[in-house]
Amino acid sequence: MSRLYAVGIGPGGGGQMTIHAREVLERSAVIVGYPVYVDLIREEFPDKRYLTTPMRRETDRCRMAFEEAKKGSEVAVVCSGDAGIYGMAGLLYEIKVEYPSVELEVIPGVTAASGGAAILGAPLMHDFAVISLSDLMTPREKIERRLRAAAMADFVICLYNPSSQKRAGYLRWACQCVLEYKPADTICGIVRNIGREGETYRILSLEQLKEISVDMFTTVYIGNERTFMREDKMITPRGYANG
Ligand code: SAH
Repeated sequence: MSRLYAVGIGPGGGGQMTIHAREVLERSAVIVGYPVYVDLIREEFPDKRYLTTPMRRETDRCRMAFEEAKKGSEVAVVCSGDAGIYGMAGLLYEIKVEYPSVELEVIPGVTAASGGAAILGAPLMHDFAVISLSDLMTPREKIERRLRAAAMADFVICLYNPSSQKRAGYLRWACQCVLEYKPADTICGIVRNIGREGETYRILSLEQLKEISVDMFTTVYIGNERTFMREDKMITPRGYANG
C-alpha cells in the first residue's frame, strides 16, 4: 500500500523539527507544500522532488500529493508547526476517500503556540484557548463568540492568524471584544518568526496590544487574571507556588 504523510515541521523547521518528522522526510521521495514551508527544509533535503502550489490552492495540493503516492512513491505533505492544527491533516483525510489505495499518516510537530510560549517564558501554564482570527473559513460572528466565551471564562488566549492585508483591523477588534471581560492591564505577548530568522518578541498590556499592528507571521498571547511579567518574561502561574 502506498503511503502519504502529513508532516508538521515545527514553527521554523530545523532544530524544532522532531526526529520522527525528519526520518519521514528522509524516506520520502516527494515533498509537497506551500512554497514558504518548502523553502524552510529544501537545504536540508536537497535530493527530493519538490511540488509546490500557491496559497489558497490547498485542495489541489492535497490531490497532487495523493496522485504521487498512488503512483507508488512515499510522499510527504509539509505544514509549518503541527499538521493537525490549522494544517493540512484534516483536508487530507477528507480527500482520502477518493484514494482508497493510499494510507495516510499524520506526523505531529511543535505548534506555534508552544514554540512561541517558550520564547515568551511560560504563558500557557494554565487552561488556554487557541483561536484563529482568520474568517476565510469561519464566520466573523462565530470568531467573536469564541473570543468572548474564552475571555469571559478567563482562559489564557492564544491567537493564530492575527492579521493579513485584508484583515488589518482584526487584532484591534479582537482586543476590543476581550477588553469587555479582561482588564486593560492584562499581560499579553507577541512573538514573530518563531524559530526563523528575525525571531522577536514583545510583552505588553492588553490596552497596548489593541493599538499595535502585527503580521501573519506572528502569534499573540493574552494572559489570564494571574499572568504576570518578570524580567521581561510572560508567566502564568500554575499554582504550585501558593499550594
Ligand atoms: N499549523 C501551524 C499553524 C498554521 S496557521 C502550527 O501548528 O503552528 C498560521 C498561523 O500560525 C500564523 O498566522 C501565525 O499566527 C502562526 N504561526 C505559524 N508559524 C509561525 C512562526 N514561525 N512564528 C510566528 N507565528 C507562527
